[in-house]
Amino acid sequence: MVKVRFAPSPTGPLHIGGARSALFNYLFARKNDGVFIVRIEDTDLERSSRESEKNILESLKWLGITWDEGIEVGGSNGPYRQTERLSVYQKYAKKLIDEGFAYYCFCTEEERQALLAKGEMPRYLGKCRNLSPDMREKYLAQGRKPTIRFKVPVGRTIVINDLVRGVVRFDTDGIGDFIIVKSDGIPTYNFAVVIDDATMGITHVLRGEEHLSNTPRQILLYEALGFKAPEFAHISLILGKDRTKMSKRHGATSVENYRERGYLPEALVNFLALLGWSPGTEEEIFSMEQLIERFSLERVAKNPAIFDMDKLNWINGYYIRNSELSRIIDLSLPYFQKRGYVSENPTEEELNKLTKVVEATREYVSALAELPDHATIFYEKEINFEDEAKGLLMDLEVKEILKKISEKLDELKSQDYEEVKGFLKKLPKELGVGGKKVYMPLRAALTGKTHGPELYQILGILGPDETKRRIVDVIF
Ligand code: GLU
Repeated sequence: MVKVRFAPSPTGPLHIGGARSALFNYLFARKNDGVFIVRIEDTDLERSSRESEKNILESLKWLGITWDEGIEVGGSNGPYRQTERLSVYQKYAKKLIDEGFAYYCFCTEEERQALLAKGEMPRYLGKCRNLSPDMREKYLAQGRKPTIRFKVPVGRTIVINDLVRGVVRFDTDGIGDFIIVKSDGIPTYNFAVVIDDATMGITHVLRGEEHLSNTPRQILLYEALGFKAPEFAHISLILGKDRTKMSKRHGATSVENYRERGYLPEALVNFLALLGWSPGTEEEIFSMEQLIERFSLERVAKNPAIFDMDKLNWINGYYIRNSELSRIIDLSLPYFQKRGYVSENPTEEELNKLTKVVEATREYVSALAELPDHATIFYEKEINFEDEAKGLLMDLEVKEILKKISEKLDELKSQDYEEVKGFLKKLPKELGVGGKKVYMPLRAALTGKTHGPELYQILGILGPDETKRRIVDVIF
């Protein structure tokens, strides 16, 4: 049975790259009726925090990525936080020492620096490999706290048959004996990850390409411990549009930022899935269910994925326009409250208006946070006239027509869209002029623009009194 995991280090909020790794693991597990584990790799004591852990788990849940085993949900292979598994690592470290695969190293950081291989790949040259018992006693008497190093075999080539990258070879000679347990007793990433993946029964390791160079170390550990190594699949890096490594310059990097700006979780999931995976067709919109159905590692690309903000905006706009209106309204409310357009405890009237406003403006945005900007015409008394609208409203004939419209408005007693539509439709005939002379100036007078939501929406939202006030403002 397929068993995969997402193993974030809680050293910051969930990043786009991490979210993509989590998503690919989730899709692969669901597609293959497998098990998906979330485990916390918090052995970097200084940089890890519960706050980051919470952020990561919240972000995963928000994206709709759920796990079957692991942190919070539990399971038979726990605990699922590495700092709570130290006794497990100690047991295996002892085994490696007893069997001659690892040794205590007493070198201090300065000695270690002095002993690094020079002029080639920096690596430890194994000074403590064959320490005599006497020397060992001497160091211990000095109070030195040893690390534990893994003995890397010389002259071997490690061959990885990566499910995404194909065959990748590493010479063991470039590796150097690496630390598996630090002097404070905390295991290093390469050691803990192997123990966890092996004892938790992980069958496939899907993770970012930045870990490819760790893989030969991990394979050596699997061998020494007598564990069967899992399959590996390294997903390519995410680059910005300028082909440099994705960073803040290219846009927000944490999932939380996108959530705050009003990106919908299904839009982000859809976008992340296409960062490296392709359906093999031109299709671009996929629900989670469709992704599960279609996902395969064969269609994960080897070349870097390009983070295209325009595409994310397009996808998000698509979901904003096509999702249930009531949901979009609920999600939009905080942005309108923040802007002061809707009060903290909204009245029914405010909510009715908001419904119409969101319906009228969601066509124009790529994230919910942009909605209030598009709704200023419905909430601000002061209108900002664009040049084109200004020009149009200078015309004397136009002013005359607007005056007549303002008088006619006395007949409109409702904000109901159907009634407003009826009112607008009759206007040209009643005033004896063409539609163009009526609608464009009216729009310009009410919004200061020549483009935007439908006129019936504008009148229906503003209501007859405010509509009249704005017209009168323009003609005098
Ligand atoms: N804790 C590692 C990271 O966050 C996970 C690496 C792995 O998946 O093996 O990068």
